[in-house]
Amino acid sequence: MKKHAVVIGAGYGGLSCSALLARDGWKVTLLEKNGQTGGRARNWVSDGFTFDMGPSWYLMPEVFDRYFSLFQANREDYYGLLPLNPYYKVFFSPSDHACLSPNLQENIKLFDSFEPGGGAALQRYIDQATYKYHIAMKEFLYRDYKHLTDFFNRRIIFEGLKLDVFKKLDSFVSTFVSDRRAKQILEYAMVFLGTSPVDAPALYSIMSHVDLGLGVYFPQGGMAGVAQGLEKLCREMGVDIQTNQEVTSISVTANQATAVHTREGSFSVDIVVSGADYRHVECELLPPQAATYIPSYWDKRVVAPSMFIAYLGIGRRLSGLEHHNLYFSDPWETHFDKIFKHPQWPMEPCFYLSCISKTDASSAPEGCENVFILVPTAPGLADSEEQREAYFDHIIDHVREVTGEDLKQDILVKRIYSHRDFIQDYNAFKGTALGLSHTLRQTAVFRPASRSKKVRNLFYTGQYTHPGVGVPMVLIASEVAANEIRSAYGP
Ligand SMILES: Cc1cc2nc3c(=O)[nH]c(=O)nc-3n(C[C@H](O)[C@H](O)[C@H](O)COP(=O)(O)OP(=O)(O)OC[C@H]3O[C@@H](n4cnc5c(N)ncnc54)[C@H](O)[C@@H]3O)c2cc1C
Repeated sequence: MKKHAVVIGAGYGGLSCSALLARDGWKVTLLEKNGQTGGRARNWVSDGFTFDMGPSWYLMPEVFDRYFSLFQANREDYYGLLPLNPYYKVFFSPSDHACLSPNLQENIKLFDSFEPGGGAALQRYIDQATYKYHIAMKEFLYRDYKHLTDFFNRRIIFEGLKLDVFKKLDSFVSTFVSDRRAKQILEYAMVFLGTSPVDAPALYSIMSHVDLGLGVYFPQGGMAGVAQGLEKLCREMGVDIQTNQEVTSISVTANQATAVHTREGSFSVDIVVSGADYRHVECELLPPQAATYIPSYWDKRVVAPSMFIAYLGIGRRLSGLEHHNLYFSDPWETHFDKIFKHPQWPMEPCFYLSCISKTDASSAPEGCENVFILVPTAPGLADSEEQREAYFDHIIDHVREVTGEDLKQDILVKRIYSHRDFIQDYNAFKGTALGLSHTLRQTAVFRPASRSKKVRNLFYTGQYTHPGVGVPMVLIASEVAANEIRSAYGP
């Protein structure tokens, strides 16, 4: 008889961990609250438009290829990849914009146009980011940290100093470039990690190797297509995936989880793995005495931003936009301040706008465009219907001023998604889109553990655990959790 693992939540974390457990000989039941798998990376289909609801940047392709190779499988058999060119377009003001290219020489020229010596500085910056990336992949990311000494040992401190773990990104970038636009290109990805450049460790300069070095891709079927690829892999491995199954509690006896309960029934378990929001499981599904991280722990964390998102089907082609478009306001500190220090709706925000129909014709009817607008916002903001609509009008005007594209008259499909949707759909603490920010004090050993300290057969994967936020990181987290389970229970 196989032992039974119940996995909670079919986002990238739950899906990727389920397949690994099934590979290791567990009977796996994957329970998902929503009607579809993919979690924050689900898609939404309406009137001929197919929107990726969450992530849209496919980065670090080698992480996905490595994951599929753990099953002697080829990623290409699950979904294809298209390289993007340009990688992305940046608007610095209505009259100043630039494209970042797969050709490094083009990017060097761009940085030279920003400031004297800018190109050489970019080259040096990318070189150090590439070096750090390789050390991080080898020494930091694919490993678990249980005790402070796992992190603060001599080797890691030695490597950590080389990686600039203990410096801050913003001041680090300033030692290379001083032009606002150059700095913003080297720092914007911190928003992907749910933090601001002034708080992020300089280790995350590796993100410039991730986008400009490793490249930006578009997966067939969008990011939801990748989740569907993982779902296919799970089914091939024999995972029993049950959707519309919200877990309502976990029974614990003598420090062991014994059963997982949904509204439909109960499942006896040998182990439980959670890919759902960590705080929800600890504070709402476990009996209070079984939680390692109680509510006061979460109240002291830096919670990553929520997001105001508009999915728009536009009834005409848009000429001034690329697949990925970013707007960086001047100064952008005002926006970060309204996320992290003085929470309120930002009125002059940076934004991200994707138009995946530039690459994927099937994502919109002929002659139309698939538009996704995202504004990072503070977690925990009040999000009434009136507030959303007023903010939407404001953002649409802002997009017109910055990009010159007046979308308002041509909207065929519109859906707004914000704080309360993250709470309702994913049980997200304060409506966070990304979980916990990547500050130094929430990195590696300081993230919530991948194994409960109170319930010995309860494990965690997903964006709250090490190495953290982002789809590739979540795949790595599942490999780390599966290795931990394997060393505790054998293959
Ligand atoms: C708008 C947005 C844009 C992003 N952009 C990018 C990007 O471009 N590139 C990138 O790499 N990353 C991006 N990210 C981050 C990335 O999407 C996440 O880090 C990743 O998808 C998180 O996966 P997860 O499995 O940890 O969590 P989730 O995807 O949230 O999965 C958790 C699952 O648990 C389920 N669940 C919750 N409670 C229960 C319960 N009680 N019972 C059963 N099931 C439950 C939820 O329904 C959900 O399906 C973005 C995120 C968002 C929100």
